[in-house]
Amino acid sequence: EGGGNMAASGESDPEGLCGPERAGAGGLALLGLAPSAPSCPHGPALLFVKTSQGREEGRRFYACSACRDRKDCNFFQWEDEKVSETRLAAREEYNRNHRPSFTHRQNVERYKNFVLLPLSKRRFCQECQQLLLPAEWEKHSNHQFLCDISTVQLKSPSQLLYPLENKKTNAQYLFAGRSCRFLLDLIIDLGFRRVLSVGTPRLHEMIQSKASQEEDFKVRSLLLDIDFRYSQFYTEDEFCHYNMFNHYFFGGKAARETCRKFLYQDNGERVIMVTDPPFGGLVEALASSFKKLMAMWKETEKEGQDNQEMPMFWIFPYFFESRILEFFPSFTMMDYQVDYDNHALYKHGKTGRRQSPVRIFTNLTPSMIVLPVEEGYRFCTICQRYVSSGNQHCEICNSCTSKDGRQWKHCVLCNKCVKPSWFHCNNCNCCTLSNHTCEKTDAGCFVCGKAGHKRSTCPSLSCT
Ligand code: SAH
Ligand code: ZN
Ligand code: ZN
Ligand code: ZN
Ligand code: ZN
Repeated sequence: EGGGNMAASGESDPEGLCGPERAGAGGLALLGLAPSAPSCPHGPALLFVKTSQGREEGRRFYACSACRDRKDCNFFQWEDEKVSETRLAAREEYNRNHRPSFTHRQNVERYKNFVLLPLSKRRFCQECQQLLLPAEWEKHSNHQFLCDISTVQLKSPSQLLYPLENKKTNAQYLFAGRSCRFLLDLIIDLGFRRVLSVGTPRLHEMIQSKASQEEDFKVRSLLLDIDFRYSQFYTEDEFCHYNMFNHYFFGGKAARETCRKFLYQDNGERVIMVTDPPFGGLVEALASSFKKLMAMWKETEKEGQDNQEMPMFWIFPYFFESRILEFFPSFTMMDYQVDYDNHALYKHGKTGRRQSPVRIFTNLTPSMIVLPVEEGYRFCTICQRYVSSGNQHCEICNSCTSKDGRQWKHCVLCNKCVKPSWFHCNNCNCCTLSNHTCEKTDAGCFVCGKAGHKRSTCPSLSCT
């Protein structure tokens, strides 16, 4: 197994991806989801092994699939460890105690009662992130709360809830309005009727509120997300508590069935899955879950479409392109830059556009993805896709080669286009940053998959 399998410890921090704060050469390799894996409150744990120089080193162990930070979930077990009955029982009890205080069903009932209340009695506890019924006010009396929660607010929970900010485990980066509108318009223009929203609560919310306001709006959405707070606002047909790193439905069979039924409607036609996962290093865990969702869709009886894949938009930073293509060779990366509301680096500043590294990867025909001309995107007739304004068609590569929106330059020695800030290093025999240290490693770099450097000095992570 090469370095390509490594799940680094620093990858889920998008700021770190652009800065010098990188994990060292050693890392963790993900071995996957074992059938007999023990469970933590986040579902079955994943099997890992420590690596050094791309080689497995030491005992294999299970750890939480969702939390990269041991402070959030400290589940740990050696693969070959004998776990005593007492510890198993304690673990089960621990898992039980870490379930949310209300079930989804209870939250749906609570919501029904909540909307019957007059505005003056509709409170939302900001500390507990919970809609409060009058009988509960007392218990939250010294918590901060919001009053007069309107129907509009209830229809935009992503505005009401604070975005989770834990960098390692679950940083929520919400789409800026224009990116969200762009995605939805694109989905509508492409003729889709159902959206499986995996970790895209804001897109889900935009679809839900349009559906409730406009009679002839036919698009429906099912949200799959690990953030259980959303169960307060959506029924069991609209939201499933789901872990996309181990394909785990917290609601068990019934929830899985909801998802399956959603995909099965209209013979599975006109469904698209849209996902915007946390930018962690567990690309293969995500890919394995997404393949399972695709397989669920594929089970529908479709006439003459045997080799089709469920259409998908996977929203992820461009420097993961090679990793995504490893698992989904049919995917293409689009030039569209996805913007976020609450991410300083990735949003449009008042003073002009900041470049966002986040892109849309899709298995749809690239020429079908029309990007907004008013934002500078243009259609390249040779590449048959829309590209950034700065992305020039290279005659030698015969393609529009820029990944980051800036104009790249062709290096005849590397025989490919590279970032404008790179230069050709004769030592390393490739183009790289001018301030790099020449070093040879056999294992490919975790991030870009290329040889010649390690993850910690990967040139694609540089913002300059
Ligand atoms: N841009 C999106 C939000 C992306 S942030 C939007 O505006 O709709 C990542 C999302 O993935 C969050 O909603 C977060 O709750 C969810 N998430 C994080 N870890 C997850 C996991 N293990 N399983 C499922 N969803 C997860
Ligand atoms: Zn409270
Ligand atoms: Zn081109
Ligand atoms: Zn070129
Ligand atoms: Zn070069």
